[in-house]
Amino acid sequence: MHPLRSLILAAAGNDAIRRLVATAPVSRDVVRRFVAGEQTSDAIDVTRELVASGRSVTLDHLGEDVADAEHADQNVRAYLELLDALHAEGLAPKAEVSVKLSALGQKLGERLALANASRVCAAAEQCGTTVTLDMEDHTTTDSTLRVLAELRRSWPSTGAVLQSYLRRTFDDCKSLAGSRVRLVKGAYAEPDSVAFDGHEVDLSYVRCVNALLTGDGYPMFATHDPRLVRIVAERARWYDRKPGTYEYQMLFGVRQEEQRRLAREGETVRVYVPYGSQWYGYLMRRLAERPANTTFFARALVSH
Ligand code: FAD
Repeated sequence: MHPLRSLILAAAGNDAIRRLVATAPVSRDVVRRFVAGEQTSDAIDVTRELVASGRSVTLDHLGEDVADAEHADQNVRAYLELLDALHAEGLAPKAEVSVKLSALGQKLGERLALANASRVCAAAEQCGTTVTLDMEDHTTTDSTLRVLAELRRSWPSTGAVLQSYLRRTFDDCKSLAGSRVRLVKGAYAEPDSVAFDGHEVDLSYVRCVNALLTGDGYPMFATHDPRLVRIVAERARWYDRKPGTYEYQMLFGVRQEEQRRLAREGETVRVYVPYGSQWYGYLMRRLAERPANTTFFARALVSH
């Protein structure tokens, strides 16, 4: 792994650095580049604009690694408020939600996370939309896939995320190829024993693209990598997949022109929109992915 990436990912879990950055006069513009805002109404405003431009949305209420049940319950309630607002605004068919189980109490126990995720899935169904479970570091993969399997018994459209950097993922793709699966490279610092590095991650991504496109599920290819976007388009043609039987996903604030281009070409493009006050861990992972983002962030820190 690149030393700068390791350093930033280490900072993402460091409390002293978290406090320093959180209290620094960070320009609203920096956070706003990647995060819709702090309130539900901010998330709704951004969703409305994206939907009007022909894109779909998945919304993430920021927050991870909660340490008590009360905090997990607050996160559930934030999702319920969001789903009500999406429904009231008529946005639910184009906007789903992404949920991190660690924000719903996974570290306190799988049963609590399942119970909380079930509340979110039930509300999503009532509002005419669905849920995708984000994937976190590799120590949570088995637990997250177990919770997913339980949720799918009642809500079969619940989506999974698989990370091509994990050596196990090709097998997971084959088992989940009949359902909704978001394929990503993976954003956490992982040991070599479980994860590929560098170009191997891309090769694994392509193997998984093949497995998902030849399955009878709904693959969601989440990447900004121009080479992988080209390969997905080429493989979709090979396997005679029509637009709308799979989709592209990108993060809010990243490669917007490419998002618009794909949408103009008739592809389904879903933008992952995070919102809420707990933006630190999310922002640090985005910075670790791209040194240019780090320069942008550092410049804003010193100029305000
Ligand atoms: P990278 O390897 O980061 O970049 C490859 C190339 O893409 C770059 O060389 C550049 O040409 C281009 N590029 C990348 N970023 C930019 C940019 N900012 N501007 C211009 N060009 C750029 N990870 C998880 O671990 N769990 C999840 O649940 C999860 N959910 C995600 C959901 C969505 C919708 C997306 C898009 C990502 C998600 N991720 C998740 C993050 C993911 O794992 C990667 O860390 C992230 O997408 C970066 O990888 P990449 O495929 O975009 O390519």
